[in-house]
Amino acid sequence: MESLGRKVKEDGVVIDEKILKVDGFLNHQIDAKLMHEVGQTFYNQFKNEGITKILTIEASGIAPAIMAALHFDVPCLFAKKAKPSTLKDGFYQTDIHSFTKNKTSTVIVSEEFLGEDDTVLIIDDFLANGDASLGLNEIVKQANAKTAGVGIVVEKSFQNGRQRLEDEGLNVSSLCKVASLKGNKVTLLGEN
Ligand code: 5GP
Repeated sequence: MESLGRKVKEDGVVIDEKILKVDGFLNHQIDAKLMHEVGQTFYNQFKNEGITKILTIEASGIAPAIMAALHFDVPCLFAKKAKPSTLKDGFYQTDIHSFTKNKTSTVIVSEEFLGEDDTVLIIDDFLANGDASLGLNEIVKQANAKTAGVGIVVEKSFQNGRQRLEDEGLNVSSLCKVASLKGNKVTLLGEN
């Protein structure tokens, strides 16, 4: 997606060699038109997979996920980061380690909204080491549902997330691949 690559290069702020800040269009302020195009692109890629539900994790996955849901005309479901005291019966749950916050949280999805008849497209804003997507896939497995694929807005290809997802047999589609954040500069895959 050329428009996304341009935006990442122009507006992305390199925090360090591993973290890119995209608060201007994805993680804080949201560029709705760009997210609409993101949703359309995921739809074009996965439209023949019989997707019945989009699954993401709060909060920053919700914008691209809801735009994808709009194009697929299916519900957008997001895993909630729950405090253990609020956990009751009737939830799928798993622990996900956050790459940016460096802490592990329990996330939950109500059994009411995901079941064995569902075919799921997992969507997230970033792919780093893959913990968020693998955790969401674990929830899909608990529901005896099927994951048709994982749609990522920005993949950091210098980290091992894609490899870990592919080792799980998941079909990963990333709309923008960052090869390096070295030298305070965003270099996309295929660029010099
Ligand atoms: P993973 O679970 O693949 O290691 O990391 C993905 C999750 O961490 C995403 O949900 C995203 O919110 C966050 N994340 C990972 N890397 C970055 C980054 O470079 N910038 C931002 N803004 N979020 C990131």
